[in-house]
Amino acid sequence: MRAALSAIEVLRPRGLSHALELIASEPQPVPLAGGTDLFVALNAGAEPRTRFLDLSPLAALRGIRSSREGVTIGSLTTFREIREHAGLRHLPALVAAAAEVGGWQIQNRATLGGNIANASPAGDALPVLLAHEARVKIASVRGEREIAIDRLFTGYRQLAIERDELIVSIHVPWPTRGAVALFRKVGTRRAQSISKVVFCGVLHVAGRGMERVRLAYGSMAPVPVRARAAENALEGSALPAPQGAGSPGSPDVSESSAAAARRALSKDLAPIDDIRSDRDYRMDIAGRLIEQLLRVAAFSPRR
Ligand SMILES: Cc1cc2nc3c(=O)[nH]c(=O)nc-3n(C[C@H](O)[C@H](O)[C@H](O)COP(=O)(O)OP(=O)(O)OC[C@H]3O[C@@H](n4cnc5c(N)ncnc54)[C@H](O)[C@@H]3O)c2cc1C
Repeated sequence: MRAALSAIEVLRPRGLSHALELIASEPQPVPLAGGTDLFVALNAGAEPRTRFLDLSPLAALRGIRSSREGVTIGSLTTFREIREHAGLRHLPALVAAAAEVGGWQIQNRATLGGNIANASPAGDALPVLLAHEARVKIASVRGEREIAIDRLFTGYRQLAIERDELIVSIHVPWPTRGAVALFRKVGTRRAQSISKVVFCGVLHVAGRGMERVRLAYGSMAPVPVRARAAENALEGSALPAPQGAGSPGSPDVSESSAAAARRALSKDLAPIDDIRSDRDYRMDIAGRLIEQLLRVAAFSPRR
C-alpha cells in the first residue's frame, strides 16, 4: 500500500560525515538520489520504508574529475551530466549508455550511483562499468573502501554493500590507446524501453591482435555479468581484416575466434524467458553483438 505523504520523513544531511551518521542511525534511512527508481516504487506502494536520506546536499558525491589514470565520477552525477561532459569523450560507450537511459526528463535526474545501487540486471550503465573495469568507492562511519565493480553484484538485486554504506564515486580507468568500445542496448524500440539485451565490449588492441577483451552484458543473467569465457576465446587472436567493399555493417566476421566466442557465451550467460524477450533470442543477439564489436574494431583506424 502507498504510504501517506505525511508518514514520509526526509533527512537533509549537512555534509558527508553527517550523512554517514544518519544512515547508521535507527531506523536506517534509505538513500535518495534522483528518485527515478524510488519514486516509482513509492508510488506503486512497493516501498514500505518511510525514512529517506536526501543525498542532494552532498557536494562530496558530485563532480567528474580526470587524472592520468582515469576519471572519477561522483555517485550523484546525472546521466545528462555524463552525456554532456567533454572530459568523458574517451569513454564513448559510457556517454552512449547515458544517452539511452530513459528520456531527457529521466536523464536530468537519474544518477550513476542510483543505477548501480538499484542493481537491476537491466541497468544500462552497468555493463559499461563492468567492461571498463570500474572501481566503486563506498563510505560508512567505519571509513572508506573500494570494490571492483565485478565483485559488487552478488545476486538478483543484491549488492556487496552494507545498508549503512553510501556509494561515493566511481573510478573508470582510461582505456588503452587505440582501444575500441561499443555500447548497444537492444530493446523493443530505440528509446524509453527496458533492454532485452544490453552490451558493452572493450577491445584493447595491440597491432592487429586483441590483447585484452572485456565483454559485459545486462538482462542476460540475474546480475549484470562479464562474459569471461567469451573474452578468453577472443584474447590473443587477430582482429578480422576489413573487406574492401565493406562497412562496419558488412557480414565479414566469420573468423573462428568470433565463432568460438559465440559458443563460449553459453558458459557465461543464463538468460530467461520473460515478458520482454525469450532466452533463444537473447542468446542470438548476445553473439551478434560480439560480431558487431569485431567489425567496428576491424574498421577503426589503428593509432
Ligand atoms: C521512465 C523511466 C525510464 C527509465 N529508463 C531507464 C533506462 O533506460 N535504463 C536504465 O538503466 N534505467 C532506467 N530507469 C531507472 C532509473 O532511472 C535508473 O536506475 C537511475 O539510474 C536510478 O538513479 P536515481 O538517482 O534516480 O536513483 P534513486 O531512485 O534515488 O535510488 C535508486 C536506489 O539506489 C539507492 N541509492 C541511490 N544513490 C545511492 C548512493 N549514492 N549510495 C547508496 N545507495 C544509493 C537508493 O537507496 C535506491 O535503492 C528508468 C526509470 C524510469 C522511471
